[in-house]
Amino acid sequence: MFKKILVANRGEIALRIQRACREMGIKAVMVYSEADRDAKYVKLADEAVCIGPASSALSYLNMPALISAAEVTDAEAIHPGYGFLSENADFAERVEKSGFQFIGPTPENIRTMGDKVSAKQAMIKAGVPCVPGSEGELPDDPVIIRRTAKAVGYPVIIKAAGGGGGRGMRVVHTEAALVNAVQMTKAEALAAFGNGAVYMEKYLQNPRHIEIQILADKFKNAVYLGERDCSMQRRHQKVLEEAPAPGIPRKLIERIGERCVAACKKIGYRGAGTFEFLYENGEFYFIEMNTRVQVEHPVTEMITGIDIVRTQIMVAAGEKLPFAQRQIEIRGHAIECRVNAEDPYKFTPSPGRITMWHPPGGPGVRVDSHVYTNYYVPPNYDSMVGKIIVHGDTREQALARMRTALLETVVEGINTNIPLHRELMVDAKFMAGATNIHYLEEWLSQHKR
Ligand code: ADP
Repeated sequence: MFKKILVANRGEIALRIQRACREMGIKAVMVYSEADRDAKYVKLADEAVCIGPASSALSYLNMPALISAAEVTDAEAIHPGYGFLSENADFAERVEKSGFQFIGPTPENIRTMGDKVSAKQAMIKAGVPCVPGSEGELPDDPVIIRRTAKAVGYPVIIKAAGGGGGRGMRVVHTEAALVNAVQMTKAEALAAFGNGAVYMEKYLQNPRHIEIQILADKFKNAVYLGERDCSMQRRHQKVLEEAPAPGIPRKLIERIGERCVAACKKIGYRGAGTFEFLYENGEFYFIEMNTRVQVEHPVTEMITGIDIVRTQIMVAAGEKLPFAQRQIEIRGHAIECRVNAEDPYKFTPSPGRITMWHPPGGPGVRVDSHVYTNYYVPPNYDSMVGKIIVHGDTREQALARMRTALLETVVEGINTNIPLHRELMVDAKFMAGATNIHYLEEWLSQHKR
């Protein structure tokens, strides 16, 4: 096992990885930008290295600074967390060329899955069902674009091959708007992701976002840890997540889970990963794969009892997966609310000093957060300041526990989206379960203030 790992990230996930390392008797080197000097995990660190100024480009995205931090501290491996460089194949390659273990899949796997066009092609080959659409990248020829859309059937969605974070997508309802929409998406994709390639998919009208968590080792052992329902979204970004997904027959989950496991074995995948699907009328359609730990991983940890971050570290160190598929049992129900520093209804960011932070507690309640009373939320990064996760024997119990947890939580000095979560937890449709990806946006437009 590793003796020392460098954590190349910030915020709650940096703390999460530090906790896993401590539990495993591994030293964690924390890195921080000048804006993150006061984060909890930096204060708690055995070793911490400043890697640059507040700007992400100069710190958390600065490959030479991260690699030299690993060199000077004698770390053996680098955990990239999520976001930043976690899905950057060039970074993974540089980490390994510099003699460190990258805690994640191989650079080749990251490269294939990071490009949504090549990811879909790999999945079709591996027998994973995909959303119907263009065969690969769309060409410039307007005649071919129109012909493709006609064959796929309107409405269609134009998506950037290099897109992420809910950006780089455009829905098209009519042929008249098509060619212009493709050109605009291409230009935006080139500016935002440095890759102008776009592809087309059928725009599903009322799907749910269901994803499968997998874990794999270097010996072609792979398992799936059930599913998560991440349909509660705003601007294609997840707001809260739960597991299992209400109302989906176990047989269907097993079938798609086995497909994902087979795909992992076929491409020689190692580490943690997520296959994201849209689910409509009893069918799953692959949209993309995330080759890293995800924000919402705790709901899966709560219902399986498996520590995903610990397992990532184990398999990166060359160990075998410590469990087989038949040993994985789903118990109860878990919900996660992302706590963002933002106006709960207008969504404008609300950085600043937290004058009071009182997290909830009690049976089945978990809080993953790097903040504390008197912590200053810097304006430079994502607005998420933590996650409240609950577990119950049933979905009803989990909902009740989340309501209590949200009631107990006190955050003063900044705005957070906790009032929104409180309302959603007593919303009749959400309580009934199985809402689709448009539900939250519709709800928000009806509850304008
Ligand atoms: P990103 O990498 O930016 O997260 P995804 O491909 O995972 O992009 O899609 C994010 C969200 O966009 C999905 O959860 C879903 O809400 C919506 N979406 C993507 N593709 C489609 C589609 N073909 N039909 C309907 N909605 C879609």
